[in-house]
Amino acid sequence: MLRLATVGLAAMLLWPATVGAQYPLFDAHIHYSRADWDAYTPERALSILARAGVRRALVSSTPDDGTLKLYEKSPAGIVPALRPYRTREDVGTWSRDPAVAAYVEKRLERGIYRAIGEVHFGEADVTAPTLRRFAELAAARKILLWCHVDDATVERVLTTYPATKVLWAHAGMSASPGRVGELLARYSTLWVELAMRTDVAPGGALDPEWRALFVRHPDRFLVGTDTWVTSRWESVREASDAVQAWLRQLPREVAEQIAWQNGDRLFPPP
Ligand SMILES: [Zn+2]
Repeated sequence: MLRLATVGLAAMLLWPATVGAQYPLFDAHIHYSRADWDAYTPERALSILARAGVRRALVSSTPDDGTLKLYEKSPAGIVPALRPYRTREDVGTWSRDPAVAAYVEKRLERGIYRAIGEVHFGEADVTAPTLRRFAELAAARKILLWCHVDDATVERVLTTYPATKVLWAHAGMSASPGRVGELLARYSTLWVELAMRTDVAPGGALDPEWRALFVRHPDRFLVGTDTWVTSRWESVREASDAVQAWLRQLPREVAEQIAWQNGDRLFPPP
């Protein structure tokens, strides 16, 4: 009992101004795909986000209609990203499919989309025609290309399409803070979202290497949840609480940028 009280007091002394603070969140990785909209009405999905402290969210869906369902109910809170997958079958073939390029081009005419993605591909697909078209469209429309790729592939994208702003999903899922830092220093068109990166704060304690990187590049990171399966909607609150816990271990001006300011800067509110 005494030991616990001492630990609590030590924590308060370390972060006296921020204990219990909840930052508003810009969640840069939400999906509301067909299975999700069968399970949760748009109102319910939006209330899950709101109760998790998410003020705005970058949303993409398979098919895209899910994103539109949420956007219709909350145009101020939902930042639509256009996912090119018309069905799950497109996931493996889209980068060389001209019909997917035509679909995306047509759909972008709505003018509401702030990113193309989240898309998955490998290094060999970087110069494939449909991906090239997406990179050109993103640059021309000043929107982001949101890529779930490894570190070698993201670097290929950045060098091949230097005029395109890239949002790197999950920081490549497994790239080390050292490698992420190297890419951020080299490419000013790269932003990084941290969905599913539990290694940022193992057991709740912010990793010192990640911490140093956040302090060095506070304007280049965003947080996210990734509702990649329907059951994940039940963990949005818990995942957001875990993010809040490590944000509180950063200086406030760094935490605020990562929590929501970078999202608002990249995707200015309407
Ligand atoms: Zn995802």
